Amino acid sequence: MAERILLVEDEEKMARMVELELLHEGYEVTKAFDGVAGLAQAESGGFDLVLLDIMLPGLSGMEVLRRLRRTSDIPVILLTARDAVMDKVSGLDTGADDYITKPFVIEELLARIRAGLRKMAAKKAAAENGKAGKPQERALTAGGGQVELYVDRHEVKVKGEVVELTLREFSLLQYLLENKGRVLSRDALLEQVWGYDYAGETNAVDVYIRFLRSKIDEVFHIKLIHTVRGIGYQIRED
Ligand code: CA
Repeated sequence: MAERILLVEDEEKMARMVELELLHEGYEVTKAFDGVAGLAQAESGGFDLVLLDIMLPGLSGMEVLRRLRRTSDIPVILLTARDAVMDKVSGLDTGADDYITKPFVIEELLARIRAGLRKMAAKKAAAENGKAGKPQERALTAGGGQVELYVDRHEVKVKGEVVELTLREFSLLQYLLENKGRVLSRDALLEQVWGYDYAGETNAVDVYIRFLRSKIDEVFHIKLIHTVRGIGYQIRED
């Protein structure tokens, strides 16, 4: 499908000349002859690129650009008067993608249009890839990365090896890792991992800490879970 270009330019002869060149290159062209009409057209969408003259009646090109940027990231190439350095600088600050100085050689304008369209296509492709890509996996770690717990896929690895844990063991380890560095009391662990209304054995925490140690600390010869005498347990980065 032909790419659609909006040309906002009040000098009609100039606009007509550019339009003919663009049509010749296979683009679809819509013209607007003042800032207000140009902005309305641009905001209505449906274009792939905007060529925007700066010196326009009604609304200046710079003001059109400023307003357009609130809602759109469509590529905009400014058409500036010769040596209007300030225009170029503030145009790029305002969010123009490029500018070309009048009078210009049509080949240069066409090259800049192709570059603007390519940049936009690449941006769209990247956004699509980002959407299709896997969401960032959430991993909790300890022991300098030797212990990894993947919340989403409910998996624990120690030194790269998968360790089978029961649901309760997993929840306990997850909570300890989420609070790495903090000393957690038996009461706090019981509340957070077993739930406030837990009515079972009060030494459940110690029992499950022992399970975790037998599956992790002892098998892999690491010191993951520390006992803090009289208080509770802690995972810390030594
Ligand atoms: Ca003008």
